[in-house]
Amino acid sequence: MNYDVIIAGGGTAGCACAYIAGKLGLKVLLVEKNSFLGGTITSSLVIPAMKTSDNAINIEFFNKLYSELELLGGAITYCDGNKGWFNPELTKIVLDKLMQEANVEVLFESYITKTEKNLLPYTVTIESNNLYLYDNNILSHPIDTKYLVDATGDAIICKNLNCEFLENKSQPINLRFIISGVNVQEFSNWIMELDKDRDVTTSCTVDNKIYLSTAYTWDKSKNWALRSVFEQGITDGIITEEDSNYFQMFSVAGTPDSIAFNCPRLVKNCKNPYIEGRAAILRLSNFCKKYLPGFKNAYISSIASSLGIRVYNRVKGKYVYTVDDLRTGKQFDNPVVVSNYPIDVHSGKKDGSTLEQVNREYQLPLESLMVKDNLFVIGRCISADFESQAALRIIPSCFSMGEGLARYLAKDSVCG
Ligand SMILES: Cc1cc2nc3c(=O)[nH]c(=O)nc-3n(C[C@H](O)[C@H](O)[C@H](O)COP(=O)(O)OP(=O)(O)OC[C@H]3O[C@@H](n4cnc5c(N)ncnc54)[C@H](O)[C@@H]3O)c2cc1C
Repeated sequence: MNYDVIIAGGGTAGCACAYIAGKLGLKVLLVEKNSFLGGTITSSLVIPAMKTSDNAINIEFFNKLYSELELLGGAITYCDGNKGWFNPELTKIVLDKLMQEANVEVLFESYITKTEKNLLPYTVTIESNNLYLYDNNILSHPIDTKYLVDATGDAIICKNLNCEFLENKSQPINLRFIISGVNVQEFSNWIMELDKDRDVTTSCTVDNKIYLSTAYTWDKSKNWALRSVFEQGITDGIITEEDSNYFQMFSVAGTPDSIAFNCPRLVKNCKNPYIEGRAAILRLSNFCKKYLPGFKNAYISSIASSLGIRVYNRVKGKYVYTVDDLRTGKQFDNPVVVSNYPIDVHSGKKDGSTLEQVNREYQLPLESLMVKDNLFVIGRCISADFESQAALRIIPSCFSMGEGLARYLAKDSVCG
């Protein structure tokens, strides 16, 4: 059995790559370890996609996903013009549909367990945790592919192929959750009054529903409106000081009484981040119910099934993109991403996090996705140094990497 492209990882970058490659006529197999697509967006509940440059390139997939979600009431455009406010559950459904539309074959609960390189094709062996889902053809026989794409987020395929890696440096992980049953109008009235200088809080009405975002961190960099509330929660023993290190909330498109939380951010060396994360979620939920108007009848409706990993493995590819390239807006012959998102480095230490605005657009070249011999990497584990990755990892840029690579593969397969 032969494919033009096998993509390991049906997450943010992998779905964009699969959809565009399929649309451009390539025979694509997408291998995903979860039982649904979307990766960090769905399994780690990371929403919304951050706003990036108006001159962004390779945005067909983003626009298609947005318009399909909008039809289902699962995406909104926020008041700052950001179209990235997606509903994670509806995203799963829409991604299934998009893959079918693009003739992409999808294997869920599956892994590539063995990869061999025979001249140009790679030969992979795939196993599934759910054998009854698939006929034996695809699982029991090695499969050849001309191009192999590692979209696992953590460069698992590159690791198995003994590729070179860049220095290991990490940022804290989060375990995100959603609270439902919130009286958003009541909370919005209260927080907009409390955060009079609008330092961190925004709120807007879309389709007669209120959407909002606010935040608090233990850093002294801002005059956080919620500071006294957090101090009270710590004094009363409802939350720990560590729970207060990072707290951020966003409304969820299509579920007007739900708020998604970008926390807890796990700053200690956790022995078991899932157990400690879920315990922190319970404390934070109790905190919201006790101190935040509008949360009295609220309840935890969803806890991410996967940890949110900002950065882990980064592959050393044909070109290592650097923060100097980013700061100087270096131009390349084959850009796949154009962005202006800041360099967003989270730290577990008080006042250690930084958000460096960049005053010009920057480009990521295709060569940072090239590993070797028709092996490519997309998403947060690309060939980029630690600081530039901290700007490039956002959802829209991962989409653009996947799409940009797919366009290159479609051309290459015709020429070569
Ligand atoms: C806490 C947190 C908050 C963030 N906040 C924002 C934000 O507000 N806005 C924004 O735009 N960006 C945000 N980001 C960044 C962004 O969400 C991620 O960097 C991006 O989604 C990563 O995309 P990816 O394709 O690299 O990985 P993923 O989307 O995680 O995709 C990887 C996929 O590979 C699958 N996989 C892994 N191993 C295997 C294997 N061996 N075989 C098969 N499949 C495998 C996974 O299940 C997953 O589906 C945040 C990230 C984190 C962690």
